[in-house]
Amino acid sequence: MFKINNLNVSVNDKNILNNLNVELPDGQIHVIMGKNGIGKSTLCKVIMNYPGYTKKGNIVFNNKDLLKMSTYEIAKEGVMLISQNPVSIEGVSNAEALRTALKERNEGTLDIFKFNKEMEEICDKLALDRSFIHKDINVGASGGERKKIELLHMGILKPKFIILDELDSGLDVDSLRITSENIKKYKAENPSTSILIITHHPKILEYLHPDYVHIMNNGKIIKTGNYDLAMEVEKNGYNYFKDSNNDITKEVTNE
Ligand code: ADP
Ligand code: MG
Repeated sequence: MFKINNLNVSVNDKNILNNLNVELPDGQIHVIMGKNGIGKSTLCKVIMNYPGYTKKGNIVFNNKDLLKMSTYEIAKEGVMLISQNPVSIEGVSNAEALRTALKERNEGTLDIFKFNKEMEEICDKLALDRSFIHKDINVGASGGERKKIELLHMGILKPKFIILDELDSGLDVDSLRITSENIKKYKAENPSTSILIITHHPKILEYLHPDYVHIMNNGKIIKTGNYDLAMEVEKNGYNYFKDSNNDITKEVTNE
């Protein structure tokens, strides 16, 4: 179970998240939707303990409060963020980083032959050139290749909780389909894995069908529903929810 309780986040005295609550049981796919600049990436960064944010509340995964853990410990717990803009890291190849991470987790043992074979198979499934395996992380890679490299890491590290921050940004239609289908397959092979999709655009939900849809505005969740809610967003835009008369949104409008 992944649970966010009354999360408040600010940066440089600017309030970004206000009493945000989300509950995501194991094995489910939830999506948080909201317009640009409302704090979606901030939420992703705070879950991974990115520095510089002032935080209050709890983020609980596997009965542990992630807000009290280092990024290293959070990742070791099985939480993985697939970033909106994956950064490049010169001097560290994908193979080296993944080999080190696996050795850390498995206390030193690693079948190198199996590891290399698995990486090649994942690259092929992603239509990602195998040469990236031994290249430095994301160096010289396009936006689409960077997302695929993130999925190579996912396939090897086998996270239990995956956060996708705007997976579709920088992806052409074919790459969006390939990456989404790979995530869907991973989820089918690892059914207890839960996924939090963060997006301002509902297209990705055609591939990764969510169990619940949450609309975010003014730093909190203002409405929760099923897939139909995402279709309402597609049809009416986000302002429709801000101005609508339901009780939860009224609270936000009146603030
Ligand atoms: P979204 O992902 O929903 O588009 P972000 O979480 O990236 O939005 O940003 C939310 C708001 O917080 C924006 O107005 C952004 O400029 C601001 N913000 C985020 N991080 C910082 C920071 N480190 N310093 C100052 N402002 C920030
Ligand atoms: Mg963002």
